Amino acid sequence: MARENIETSVLIVGGGPTGLFASILLSKCRIPHILIERRVDVIDAPAAHVINVRTTEIFRQAGIEMDALYALDHHPEARLITWSQLPGAPVLGQLDLSANREALKARGSASQDHSANISQHLLERFLRGIAEKSEFSDIRFGVKWEGLSNTQNRINRVSSINSDTYSISADYLLAADGASSSVSRALDIQMIGPDHLATFLNLSCEVSIDDVSPESGTLLYWLMDPEMRGVMIVHDPKHLAVVMQLINVPYETFNDYDDARCESLLEKIFRGNAYRLIHKSVWRMTAQIAENFRQGNVFLIGDSAHRFPPTGGLGLNTAIADVHNLVWKLAAAINNDLDAESRESLLNSYESERKPVAQRNTDASNLNNEKMMEVVEALGLDPRKADLLPKIMNSFLIRHLPKGLRQKIKAVLLKPARALIAAAAANDQEGEEIRKRISKAVENQEEHFSMLGLELGYIYKKGVVSSEAEHTPESEVMTYTPSFAAGARLPHCAIERNGKLASTLDLANYNSFLSLKSGESREIDFPTFGYSVTEIDVAELGVNNIDLSEGEYLLVRPDGHIAVRGNP
Ligand SMILES: Cc1cc2nc3c(=O)[nH]c(=O)nc-3n(C[C@H](O)[C@H](O)[C@H](O)COP(=O)(O)OP(=O)(O)OC[C@H]3O[C@@H](n4cnc5c(N)ncnc54)[C@H](O)[C@@H]3O)c2cc1C
Repeated sequence: MARENIETSVLIVGGGPTGLFASILLSKCRIPHILIERRVDVIDAPAAHVINVRTTEIFRQAGIEMDALYALDHHPEARLITWSQLPGAPVLGQLDLSANREALKARGSASQDHSANISQHLLERFLRGIAEKSEFSDIRFGVKWEGLSNTQNRINRVSSINSDTYSISADYLLAADGASSSVSRALDIQMIGPDHLATFLNLSCEVSIDDVSPESGTLLYWLMDPEMRGVMIVHDPKHLAVVMQLINVPYETFNDYDDARCESLLEKIFRGNAYRLIHKSVWRMTAQIAENFRQGNVFLIGDSAHRFPPTGGLGLNTAIADVHNLVWKLAAAINNDLDAESRESLLNSYESERKPVAQRNTDASNLNNEKMMEVVEALGLDPRKADLLPKIMNSFLIRHLPKGLRQKIKAVLLKPARALIAAAAANDQEGEEIRKRISKAVENQEEHFSMLGLELGYIYKKGVVSSEAEHTPESEVMTYTPSFAAGARLPHCAIERNGKLASTLDLANYNSFLSLKSGESREIDFPTFGYSVTEIDVAELGVNNIDLSEGEYLLVRPDGHIAVRGNP
């Protein structure tokens, strides 16, 4: 049955983490909006788990209750990355993320917040609860976006699960509809980059990994078993793990993994311990960035704008920072009386600021993914020959042999790889030497799991920043170098506010600009797009590590990035 048209300021398509957080920030800016999500509820099995420090900072600024957020971390002691044939088998290589004391110290001083291991399904439920409480939001699960009805991208056709179809007219449309975004397809926005790097079977299991392996504290197991070729993410060592098994496309497909095959795989991995398969899905790994992040009044946010390998845990984190970058600009366009030119330049800055960050994060994720092969090579295996087994076993001839004979052929093909693994695990000189080689390759992976510079040290070069930003150096991937220059995130310095320990980042309010000044300074000569400016003299903060000389000021945007550094 057709219903009448509903009017709103902003329509969000997609109720994953990106869409839900966009709703929370729009509510903070008092903008009425509707969010539609085709599922009837949030996901019931996890994907992402690494919530990095910039994301937790952003959540704090959005007003999210931090104790409740951190309580969602069910693996707070996670510090090990383990390479072994299977969980519980002899450890062939291990990275202890708590061993690099200097890196830990740097993390401690870079922020009042920290990263957390929060399973995406728990985070989504948490964000949904917050989003639904606002008087400005209208959150509709079980409603699918079907397309646009007019050329100005204003009228959207939607359908609900009970086949009710209606239209929603919105001034702005946020496409938070994930990696296979139908909004971006409808607008014919091209995705640039490889559209297939690998295909994974994801098996989410209720299991106590603590009973399977003595390596408690492990966050990721890289499974070196030649039949597995995958990784296991421990979301909660007592209750939840996800096995990601490579599907050898084109020699096999998701359909080759029927329940019986999955069960036998999991029995092997969990070594006979009790488990329950909760969810089975397929995931295609790509490395793509949208050609445009904005088209007219439509903005791509999160995975609809960029999708990259999970090696580095950057997908969801990049998405949250997209939303944080965009919503204050959208709020100014809607709430403040801007002339057309200012409004356009402000809205265009979303793409010019976020696309380079997405590119850098894609490159880092790709590099991490490729470098992982070094560990396999150190064991003595040739990753280029990894496809040989599935290729032979799935050839027409072998597929039609009796099962017993096929198993014998497989055992013969796997023999050399199994011998290498046994040699690496052996308690003799040869084993020690192989493990030394692996250790070296493992040490080389540290950057993959320790990317503070990438998380906090990106600089917006072009957009709502002074032209000097273009020359501001970015931090290295691993090492964050605090910078008070235009384009950078305002560095954290511990301060006291109202008798409590706080951060300079707490001074940046999402609904205004901030001017941090030292003594008397010149008039601010930079647009603030209708936002008020809160002035604070650094002398009031009782700290001496804010890099400002007499008469200088920093104009900080609502998202905590420095727009301009003003001279005396
Ligand atoms: C195994 C794995 C591990 C990962 N680990 C990490 C990690 O540790 N850290 C990290 O930062 N990232 C990680 N990622 C990436 C992360 O999961 C994604 O980046 C994140 O889910 C993107 O969120 P999103 O809201 O943009 O998209 P999605 O989560 O895909 O949400 C999009 C939503 O839009 C809905 N939708 C789609 N089409 C329509 C329509 N037509 N109408 C209405 N609704 C629609 C979908 O149902 C979906 O709910 C991982 C990914 C995988 C697969």
